[in-house]
Amino acid sequence: MTSAPSPIVSAYAQLAAAVRHLGYDEGLHQHLRTPRRELHVAVPLRTDAGDLKLFHGYRVQHNVSRGPGKGGLRFSRDVDIDEVRALAMWMTWKCAVVDIPYGGAKGGVTIDPAEHSAAELERVTRRYTTEIMPLIGPETDIMAPDMGTDEQTMAWVMDTYSTSRGHTIPAVVTGKPIAIGGSLGRAVATSAGVVHVTQSALEAQGEKVAGKTVAVQGFGKVGSHAAAIYAARGARVVAVSDVHGGVRDDAGLDIDRLFAHVAAAGTVVGFADADPITNAQMLAMDVDVLVPAAMENVLTAETAPTVRARLVVEGANGPTTPEADAVMEANGITVIPDILANAGGVVVSYFEWVQANQVYWWTAQEIDERLEQRMVMAYDAVAELARRDGLSLREAANVIAVKRVAEAHSIRGLYP
Ligand code: GLU
Repeated sequence: MTSAPSPIVSAYAQLAAAVRHLGYDEGLHQHLRTPRRELHVAVPLRTDAGDLKLFHGYRVQHNVSRGPGKGGLRFSRDVDIDEVRALAMWMTWKCAVVDIPYGGAKGGVTIDPAEHSAAELERVTRRYTTEIMPLIGPETDIMAPDMGTDEQTMAWVMDTYSTSRGHTIPAVVTGKPIAIGGSLGRAVATSAGVVHVTQSALEAQGEKVAGKTVAVQGFGKVGSHAAAIYAARGARVVAVSDVHGGVRDDAGLDIDRLFAHVAAAGTVVGFADADPITNAQMLAMDVDVLVPAAMENVLTAETAPTVRARLVVEGANGPTTPEADAVMEANGITVIPDILANAGGVVVSYFEWVQANQVYWWTAQEIDERLEQRMVMAYDAVAELARRDGLSLREAANVIAVKRVAEAHSIRGLYP
């Protein structure tokens, strides 16, 4: 995907379309487009072998008009400032469309975690956290896992921040282990939300998830659990893939056995009783639901014309370029946009933060019910606006989100 345009190009185009629809002037457009704060930090690492290596890290707070900055920390070799800016902007709209009281932020370090030991990643995480300390805090900017990071990373961030403050502050991160104040349901929340909005979209056509065929691109934190939840709801997951390749079984993959295979082999490739398939073949499969749950710029002007799914549900952030959106719309394919489809993660992050602030933890059932309620409410509002104004679901989601942020901004006024 290295030749693909930066995700910031898609993010700017989506915002411009929402601003046009809302009739906002250029001054407000620039205000909504420009990150509130950005910090670029050097992250030196003493490797296990004793060498010194230098990495680049970023934390971008795109908008804080509705509340503290909120968003993940990404470790990937593709991280650069424009990607972090795009992801931070999408967090702003994501939090607004599901109406949780946060702005949007994102962090990243340009590092391939697969090339480093756990001890090296811990040192990178702690040094990065120390460098961005002026920006983060439970009332200012709250981190969570993203691509290449996990609940252990969040534990290190929380420990580094808490140690520097002299007392334990669980609410500085979300997506942390249950043992230190994490929330039940957080680990599968993004995937659960993906399935909730799929259900809502199908219900609108008098159908349901059970019996549908599903292909999932990406078998990481989002894709793997989404595949399991679709299967548990009676869908047939006929293909999954990861960076190494994919597997296909038209009778439906046995997801439990696939998890066991991935735990042993580190990839879905080589899973017995399934046929090998490439990522490109998977995107072009004749399925009811296609879930891109890997990375940005997967559905492009080149790949979108091959898509034959009826419904595309964006588990990843920014998998579809504006050109691909136009192609799929012309082909009658419904796309449930990332800021809505994958918002389940940040919704339960919000629940985790509320629980940490209350120092009182909810049951799994309370989390599940409240997540479903939020996702369905957000989906219904987006679908209703899309119908009313003749918009795609992405345009409608962006219009709702941008309007909420602009309203908060205008009610607060400018200082000075
Ligand atoms: N990284 C996730 C996302 O892109 C979760 C962010 C969060 O929970 O703050 O939505």
